[in-house]
Amino acid sequence: MAQVAIRGVRKSFGTVDVIRGVDVDIMDGEFVVLVGPSGCGKSTLLRMIAGLETVSGGQIAIGNRVVNHLPPKDRDIAMVFQSYALYPHMKVADNMAFALKLKRADPKQVEERVRTAAEILGLTPYLDRYPRQLSGGQRQRVAMGRAIVRDPQVFLFDEPLSNLDAKLRVQMRTEIKELHQRLKTTTVFVTHDQVEAMTMADRIVVMQDGAVEQVGAPLDLYDRPQNLFVATFIGSPAMNLIHGTARRSASAVAVEAFGSLLPLPGPHAVDDGQQVVYGIRPEHLDLADDGFPATVAVVEPTGAETQVVMRFGDKEVVAVFHDRHAFTPGQTVHLRPRREQAHLFDRASGKRL
Ligand code: ADP
Ligand code: MG
Repeated sequence: MAQVAIRGVRKSFGTVDVIRGVDVDIMDGEFVVLVGPSGCGKSTLLRMIAGLETVSGGQIAIGNRVVNHLPPKDRDIAMVFQSYALYPHMKVADNMAFALKLKRADPKQVEERVRTAAEILGLTPYLDRYPRQLSGGQRQRVAMGRAIVRDPQVFLFDEPLSNLDAKLRVQMRTEIKELHQRLKTTTVFVTHDQVEAMTMADRIVVMQDGAVEQVGAPLDLYDRPQNLFVATFIGSPAMNLIHGTARRSASAVAVEAFGSLLPLPGPHAVDDGQQVVYGIRPEHLDLADDGFPATVAVVEPTGAETQVVMRFGDKEVVAVFHDRHAFTPGQTVHLRPRREQAHLFDRASGKRL
């Protein structure tokens, strides 16, 4: 196991800068998820850690050793791809053993490691099959098995669950997390799916346009997003963002929007009249007579909860209720934001206030 230090890392393809100075310190044994919209540079950054892309600037170190110029095979990492990249003409056991055989490992030891990995992954009954004779989930496990047998210092995953159906994805998510709890190998996991990031990570790195927007534990990002991008990217349905004007009085700060005053917790470094964005998550809106007026547009029950899309002024607001209410479209209700859960951002910079 090892820590991974990413310092001022840049990557350009020709004149296009796709990674624009990234600093992340991944601790020994940590499970870190790189998340962000498609095209933000997650795979490029991961491939630079793996040694599959050159580094245009900055430094990458794995376990105190700068690896910028080391070929992939000398980095002691194992990577699992979205495509699995299994050898179709090799049986499961041979797929898993291949990298070790290449390194001329002792055949007894190879067999032992394949057996143990198959046991961990529930693949023992399938060792004699070819990849085409396996389900998507089983192929995914073989790809992981290939990484496990190498007993690397770091696991690198690039969207390994994207090809699976929704149910299997949730199951594999749990399996990979369990595997990490068992092996405790330092892991960097790339996904565009914020739910995957939230449920699996010790720490999340949110990226946009080749730069890091915020790094933190899942619930820290959820509770204290540092800017509007992270506020809307993490959480589903997304945080409601309402443009308004800050109003300061001697005793309190609030945001005025569409003739209503929206409450804020504690003191805020904000000027009276400042143009701001008020953020409130859908589950932090309660029905209350002294709330702001909203007109019900669409009611979407999921069973466990009900999402209600409403209009407040010209703004669409989503509320989530765990109790069942008889809403009808066109009806006006009153929503009170939970003061302690409200977020405030500067409209010009998008930064948290
Ligand atoms: P992500 O994995 O977050 O979807 P990528 O790291 O694959 O994003 O890509 C980041 C950006 O770099 C994209 O705009 C992509 O088009 C560009 N890119 C990736 N690989 C190459 C390449 N080999 N040559 C030129 N541009 C590339
Ligand atoms: Mg990618």
